[in-house]
Amino acid sequence: MKNTLNIIGGGMAGSEAAWQAANAGMNVVIHEMRPKVETFAHRTGNLGEMVCSNSFRSDDHEQNAVGLLHWEMRAADGLIMQTAEKHRIPAGGALAVDRDPFAESVTAALKAHPNITISYDEITALPEDGHWIIATGPLTSGALAEAIQAETSAEALAFFDAIAPIVYHESINMDVAWMQSRYDKGETVEEQTAYLNCPMTKDQYEAFIDALLAADKTEFKEGETAGYFDGCLPIEVMAERGRETLRFGPMKPVGLTNAHDPDTKPHAVVQLRRDNALGTLYNIVGFQTKMKYGAQKDVFKTIPALEDAEFARLGGIHRNTFINSPTLLDAQMRLRSRPNIRFAGQITGVEGYVESAAMGLLAGRMAVAEIIGKSVPAVPNTTAMGALVTHITGGAEAKTFQPMNVNFGLFPPLEGAKNGRRNRKTRYKGYTDRAKLDWQNWLDQIA
Ligand SMILES: Cc1cc2nc3c(=O)[nH]c(=O)nc-3n(C[C@H](O)[C@H](O)[C@H](O)COP(=O)(O)OP(=O)(O)OC[C@H]3O[C@@H](n4cnc5c(N)ncnc54)[C@H](O)[C@@H]3O)c2cc1C
Repeated sequence: MKNTLNIIGGGMAGSEAAWQAANAGMNVVIHEMRPKVETFAHRTGNLGEMVCSNSFRSDDHEQNAVGLLHWEMRAADGLIMQTAEKHRIPAGGALAVDRDPFAESVTAALKAHPNITISYDEITALPEDGHWIIATGPLTSGALAEAIQAETSAEALAFFDAIAPIVYHESINMDVAWMQSRYDKGETVEEQTAYLNCPMTKDQYEAFIDALLAADKTEFKEGETAGYFDGCLPIEVMAERGRETLRFGPMKPVGLTNAHDPDTKPHAVVQLRRDNALGTLYNIVGFQTKMKYGAQKDVFKTIPALEDAEFARLGGIHRNTFINSPTLLDAQMRLRSRPNIRFAGQITGVEGYVESAAMGLLAGRMAVAEIIGKSVPAVPNTTAMGALVTHITGGAEAKTFQPMNVNFGLFPPLEGAKNGRRNRKTRYKGYTDRAKLDWQNWLDQIA
């Protein structure tokens, strides 16, 4: 039993982690609370159940970061990708599946595996000893969430993600925007120029408020607003409270001088803050929103300097339990305060079925290597897996940490690659070629 790997949660991450570890010869116990204890989104007792869309998104492994993640998971004999392939249904360039047969197949494969036992129970406390992976997802049960919170502190566990849109730096027009912190605050030049500012005239501001008020929004589900509403109102709700509310809130123009036009005082300013250590991604400060995705793009592109903005992710507000991984986890996804426990999946602050399964795959492989006493080389951040795990375990800003999809903004720049939209195809192909070599190499090293 000493060398048994226990996995809490048999969703995307837990199922993949179990498969990887069991195939490496490890005894695995999956603890899954469904169907005994239900969540508001799951409908069955199946493992690997998709709670909403039936799509694993783009399957283009040359031009798309999530498609690359598919490729990397296939190269590692991933269960989720293998099963998706079996139940694939036509969806253009996306990998979509027939959802119930998909989850039934994942469940059957895990049940049939000689090294895997499934225990249908809810785990309500943090395990004291043994090897564990917590992969309980965005709807982690209340008792376990409380136990995690008790171990890590109240601020380190969030129950909602209030995501402001994230923009690729290279798509921002710096002939219009400038870098400056409000009142030039900070000790170093870097701190004094930490924010990217987009100025608005009165007419531009009024048009922006009109667009916000008119935009299509997603309605809140019953009970969804509890607990977050005071801290982070959606911008459209702020605009509904009064046309000037945003100008006195996140868009206030005070303490800022337009470097391109120092004599003209902007009527309002939209600020963006660096979102990753590489400086390739910027989030729009205070712009959490429930606008529909299409509407967000239309509205945000009316902001001066963002006319050609490309979004690494759009904004949203959802029920989501996740930990502050940049402060709590080490590079191997182990809880620093209790290294016998790893975290994987959406609870680590990645976002999406594929990203969650990918982190399960890594956690499973890393746990096995540790148990058999093998050292694990760092996953290269030039791969989709490595870019994601590096982001959540240190690359992201801990203070503003919010769940993240995989995207090319997380990858270190390619030497010699040209920026700009026109060179994108070549650049993305360069990223994916580099990633495939580096991922295969990492897999060979830990085999
Ligand atoms: C409502 C909703 C809709 C979403 N829609 C999409 C979408 O359309 N596309 C997309 O890519 N992503 C979506 N996501 C985000 C996310 O990718 C999925 O939730 C994904 O399933 C996360 O994988 P996971 O393995 O981390 O968690 P899950 O797949 O949720 O698996 C966690 C498992 O842990 C179990 N569990 C929880 N607590 C305990 C406990 N204490 N003891 C034992 N078992 C426990 C749960 O029953 C569950 O089976 C959505 C999330 C939510 C909440």
